[in-house]
Amino acid sequence: MREGIHPNYYQAKVTCNCGNEFVTGSTKEDIHVEVCSKCHPFYTGQQKAAAARGAIDKFNRKYGFTQNN
Ligand SMILES: [Zn+2]
Repeated sequence: MREGIHPNYYQAKVTCNCGNEFVTGSTKEDIHVEVCSKCHPFYTGQQKAAAARGAIDKFNRKYGFTQNN
């Protein structure tokens, strides 16, 4: 195997803006990302949707609507 053909492959430490850290394979030793699986909008968006449903339930109860969904 000749040198210079294959890039070095590290177990890179990935640091996210939210403070989460995890390890992944990469040609870089350290990686900084803005979002990860713990703070990705897909997950936080689901939490907001659940909060919105709770608000609708309160509205329905306040005005006497009964709705189960
Ligand atoms: Zn994150």
